[in-house]
Amino acid sequence: ISSVELTREFLDRIKAEDGQYNSFITVTEDLAMADAKAADEQRAAGNAGVWTGIPFAHKDIFCTNGVATTAGSKMLANFVPPYDATVVANFRAAGAVCLGKTNMDEFAMGSSTESSFFGPVTNPWGLNKDEKRVPGGSSGGSAAAIAARLVPAATATDTGGSIRQPAALCGVTGLKPTYGRVSRYGMIAFASSLDQGGTMARTAEDNALMLNVMAGFDPKDSTSANRTVPDYTATLNQPLKGLRVGLPKEYFSDQLNPAMEQQVRNAVKEYEKLGATVKEVSLPHAELAIAAYYVIAPAEASANLSRFDGVRYGYRCDKPQDLNDLYTRTRAEGFGNEVKRRILVGTYALSAGYFDAYYLKAQKVRRLIQQDFIDAFKEVDVLMSPVSPSPAFVQGEKTSDPVTMYLEDIFTIAVNLAGVPAMSVPAGFVDGLPVGLQIIGNYFEEARLLNAAHQFQ
Ligand code: GLN
Repeated sequence: ISSVELTREFLDRIKAEDGQYNSFITVTEDLAMADAKAADEQRAAGNAGVWTGIPFAHKDIFCTNGVATTAGSKMLANFVPPYDATVVANFRAAGAVCLGKTNMDEFAMGSSTESSFFGPVTNPWGLNKDEKRVPGGSSGGSAAAIAARLVPAATATDTGGSIRQPAALCGVTGLKPTYGRVSRYGMIAFASSLDQGGTMARTAEDNALMLNVMAGFDPKDSTSANRTVPDYTATLNQPLKGLRVGLPKEYFSDQLNPAMEQQVRNAVKEYEKLGATVKEVSLPHAELAIAAYYVIAPAEASANLSRFDGVRYGYRCDKPQDLNDLYTRTRAEGFGNEVKRRILVGTYALSAGYFDAYYLKAQKVRRLIQQDFIDAFKEVDVLMSPVSPSPAFVQGEKTSDPVTMYLEDIFTIAVNLAGVPAMSVPAGFVDGLPVGLQIIGNYFEEARLLNAAHQFQ
């Protein structure tokens, strides 16, 4: 099959079916068809690599030269970047065919993809039920598009769970790499010390192929890791005999839906059959993760989002009277409620009288959480746990209570605070809705996670 035929097929599916999911914000049909044609020429000339002519999509948080990049916000609804994110440039160089930009929570703040200025995304799973389900978030557009077979792979980002939780709720496979493994250059910032770009696709193997393109040192990102990139597909078939699996006891608590727990424990049994040894471990500060995150992430967000002032790019209010009016009305009109809430919380936590009590305290807790993982990985090779406390919930169910929404990330957030890599792998169903198994690894051990996920699939 030619890339032109393949690309046409996916574009037609998006056209016919995405009305019910809203997983794309922008579809770049003409560009995709031109890229597919160029890819076929490369193939005919014998210059094809693995990605040449393969369709995929980018989360709408990665800057794409000449193509609108909105971060799900009214603030950036008219923003057309004059440059590519490093991740985007890498896929371009590999000859992949980008079909468009996927929907997301506004500025990646959320766990349901309901806070997007471009409307909520519907999970392809659960359409047979009375009420529509969320796809998780913030990368819900990428997850839903893959689950609905509108695209075989998509990029995503994870600040507190935004790759793993939507992957789990949509029954696809996602990987959040080690902090620093994938360049953040050109990725619209939410909380810079936590943000990490990563991969989403149906299988671990496809995630490995994506990571091969995305990972690597980038001088344009000051926190990029200067380490060699292995071929992540090379070790997928290694036997798991002797793999030491740890089950963090804090992640198998009362908060977990018992049917979910059963699915996760069944998955762990499969690993035992594959030769893994399993033991209980402890992450003693796990219960502090949400509290620390919801100080640190909003603090960084409040600083990052101060650049949206209506002056240089993005939304600008109509007929500003003076500079102050320009700033206040631009921001009041351009940002949605959740973004405003985070800016308020973050500004408060960073203000002179409260800095020590909140921000500094949260940073100290963060260090303890990181140490928990360092200690755990002295005893085991990987940790396994649920990804989310329950399967895909009903749209609208958690939007009126931000704290319930924040608790969606109870099992994913500590990973970001520590900076370690983690995956979400499909592990069965509860009430006909997909459930994910989280596999957490030590720093830069993405290959081990992909190997473990691939053997399970
Ligand atoms: N749900 C978390 C939040 O709202 C994490 C989001 C993310 O990882 N981008 O901040």
